[in-house]
Amino acid sequence: MTREPPIDPGQVLAWGVPRMREFPWRRTRDPWKVLVSEVMLQQTRVDRVIPKWTAFLAAFPTPSACADASLGDVLRLWQGLGYPRRAKNLHATAVEVVSTNRGRLPDSLDALLALPGIGPYTARAVLAFAFERDVGVVDTNIARILARTAGERLTPRRAQAAADELVPVGEGWTWNQVLMDLGAVLCRPRPTCDECPLSSTCAWAVAGHPGPDPAVGSAGVSVAQAPFEGSDRQRRGKVLAALSGAPCAADAFDAAIVDSLVRDGLIERDGDQLLLPR
Ligand code: SF4
Repeated sequence: MTREPPIDPGQVLAWGVPRMREFPWRRTRDPWKVLVSEVMLQQTRVDRVIPKWTAFLAAFPTPSACADASLGDVLRLWQGLGYPRRAKNLHATAVEVVSTNRGRLPDSLDALLALPGIGPYTARAVLAFAFERDVGVVDTNIARILARTAGERLTPRRAQAAADELVPVGEGWTWNQVLMDLGAVLCRPRPTCDECPLSSTCAWAVAGHPGPDPAVGSAGVSVAQAPFEGSDRQRRGKVLAALSGAPCAADAFDAAIVDSLVRDGLIERDGDQLLLPR
């Protein structure tokens, strides 16, 4: 028999609403701007995302503006964020919604999931944070809370069901933001349970934090990234950074890295030159 996470929404909202963190994307309900923030925030720290989000949306304030640009121009603005396939998918999504939906992002889960690079988390984040729908958003912060309060690892299906079940009616936007804040501020990998509004009901805290931590390996909880220094990610980033300025000779770079970028559609060959997609 499974138990659902013992979370009282009223306690969480009372804790979180007065201390909600300020982010520029929390001031908008524009679906494109929300989507760009969610894509950038995947695997990238908030402080690095804020200036990039601002600059990206100044250049591409709408899907239509992004679709009109070349992928190379989008990748130039993405410089420094890493994981450039995210930029390629964002550009492809812009092209898709311009051709199929008059340049507007759809407001249904299935239609969002059909867009390039948009998975279950991002689709629900757009529904909750742009369209203010009452859906549960299971990012790594919320996933930790769900597992720890339940006192056990959760499957993806159970984590999503628990997250959906918890959303107070009409509070989808606020609820998910507050729960994310709780995970980011208190229920961190090393939690601060003394200050947590859930400490008297959280199964893991009440049991005295027995090992292993139920959040480790639970659905939606991210695992540590491999070191960046010396990685292929770093080498790929260097090629893209060099090509952002001007085309370069292919033999200036590691052939395997170049091949992987060409395969991913992130760079193009023109004779013995390499360049960003036009
Ligand atoms: S009591 Fe501790 S482990 Fe439980 S939800 Fe709060 S911070 Fe996380």
